[in-house]
Formats: sequence, C-alpha cells, structure tokens
Amino acid sequence: MEHERPVWPVMRQLTDGDPLALGSAAQSETTRKWRGRIADAKVTKSVCPFCAVGCGQLLYVKDEQLIQIEGDPDSPISRGHLCPKGAATRTMVQSPMREYKVKYRRPYGTKWEELSLDQAMDMIAERVLKTRRETWESKDEEGIDINRCYGIASLGGATLDNEENYVMKKLYTALGIVQVENQARI
Ligand code: SF4
Repeated sequence: MEHERPVWPVMRQLTDGDPLALGSAAQSETTRKWRGRIADAKVTKSVCPFCAVGCGQLLYVKDEQLIQIEGDPDSPISRGHLCPKGAATRTMVQSPMREYKVKYRRPYGTKWEELSLDQAMDMIAERVLKTRRETWESKDEEGIDINRCYGIASLGGATLDNEENYVMKKLYTALGIVQVENQARI
C-alpha cells in the first residue's frame, strides 16, 4: 500500500528526504500523477530528410500516430539538436496542408488543376523528349563530338536520398543532360 504523504509542505520536506524542497516535497499529488506526453510512446531512430547535414531524429509513435519528433542525442552529427526545419518535419506526415494530388498550372493559367499521376508522367516524358530533340548538340563549332543537351537542367532537392540521386544521375547522363545540381550543396 502506498505511503500517504503529509499535506503540509514543511512536513513533506522533513519526511520525504527533500529538506530544500527542490524535488518531491514541492510536488502536489496532481503533479505526481502527471505523465509526459511521450511517456508511453514507441521510439524509432531516423534521419532528418531535409538537408545534407543528416541530423539524427527520435520519432515518437503512440496509437499508430506520430506524436513528436526530437533530436537524437546519440547522433554524432547533431548531438540532439535539430534546426527549425528539422523540428517541424512532423508536418511532412501530418499537416492538413499536405498535398496528395499532382498540381498543374498551365501556361497563362490562373488556377491550379489536379492531374492524375499517369497524365502528369506522360506530360513530363513528352516534354523531356521534345526538348531534348530540339536542343540536342552533336558537335561544337570546331566539329568535335559533344553529344549533349543544354535544353534541360535538373535541380534536385535535399529530401532525395543517395539511391534516388544515383538513379537520376544515370538517367540524365543517358539523356546527355549535363546541367545537374542539388539544393543540398547550397
Ligand atoms: S534540415 Fe536542419 S535538422 Fe534537418 S538535417 Fe538539415 S540542419 Fe539538420
């Protein structure tokens, strides 16, 4: 049976082993019962996907829901810290503003339209092939073979992982695209 605590604070200081009232003696019964929001959550380690620093994250999941993201103190890179972007990555999963459909604004259009993914992919493929065909350079002004396409460039985002960047670079090289850059280098 749990020992009943004296109500009078001074008595608690004298009997709880907390004479300076810096710990348990300063707590009310209500605060003693409080538990942290993440107390019963499952913790998974992850890496912030936003930039090339790759800070370590702790993801707290409770009732199948992501409830908190914090810096991982065990990460040798970030040692428990996250910048404001990294601390807000929960919104990438749960924000009500998250987009699930392809948005398209046609030339001179004033509104965003929703496209199916298949239609958007077909449009991208058609434009890549057309631009490549129209801007292809086989030789330079001295007649030297160059076989390149200056009409298409790529600026990758920091959320791309190594494998995605690898596949993209292979594709661009196969297409003769030489202007390839990534935001993570900025
Ligand atoms: S966006 Fe911020 S938290 Fe995320 S990896 Fe970069 S510096 Fe770290």
